Amino acid sequence: MKQTVKTPGVVLEAGPYRSSGVLAVIYTEELGAVSVISSNARKPSSPAGAMLNRIAIIEMVLHGSGDLFTLKNASLVRDFPSIHSSAHKALAAAYLFDLIKHASPRGDSDSRMFAFLTAGLEAMNTAADRFRDIVTLTRAYEIKMLYVCGILPVFERCVSCGCAYHGGFYVSLRGGYVCTRCAQPNERILRLPAELMQALVRLVHEPLAASIKNPLTQIMADRMKLIIQPTLFQFFGKRPASAAVLETGERDLPRDD
Ligand SMILES: [Zn+2]
Repeated sequence: MKQTVKTPGVVLEAGPYRSSGVLAVIYTEELGAVSVISSNARKPSSPAGAMLNRIAIIEMVLHGSGDLFTLKNASLVRDFPSIHSSAHKALAAAYLFDLIKHASPRGDSDSRMFAFLTAGLEAMNTAADRFRDIVTLTRAYEIKMLYVCGILPVFERCVSCGCAYHGGFYVSLRGGYVCTRCAQPNERILRLPAELMQALVRLVHEPLAASIKNPLTQIMADRMKLIIQPTLFQFFGKRPASAAVLETGERDLPRDD
């Protein structure tokens, strides 16, 4: 049965639909991820068109059923000017949108996911336009996504004997930290030094806005990527295209460590 729903949402993706329309994937607070058609949004006079092409929180009225809706009305709730004016931040936001898309089945609402999405945009809007801040937020997006999806590896206790962290390795196949006593010789590849373990745990628990107050060094961010991304992308069944685009963009960012 068709329903009319008023909900805030964020446009994750928008493309052309027929001669003058737009078909968008929108993450809404009420309905989760849904497809939304706006039939005249590509006409220059359409107010909806401008709205569907910006990184923003939009209050919208949707009509439809299942995971397919038409856009009846849209008004701007929160804009993120600092993301719009930075190519690197915009790339990181696009990556965040891809993470959300891959982690959210259509038509399955999850208020935690919407809160995560809007907090992610707020933090990126506040961040400085430099490598350390953007890369720290990107790692925080990824590790919090592992947590939200219920696939966060164990870092503080050995997954084999349960002892508290005292140095050792990260073994993806075993789901986390393996202590020096339990690690087999062929598992001693990816070291998990104390500072890396602490940084991982900090990013899981800290609010996104707090993580940029203590940004990661480049070495730490790179090591963390080796731990986080394989688990996340295996869960998604693919590596999102935006991950590679973001990586290329990062190479041009100003660094200071
Ligand atoms: Zn152990």
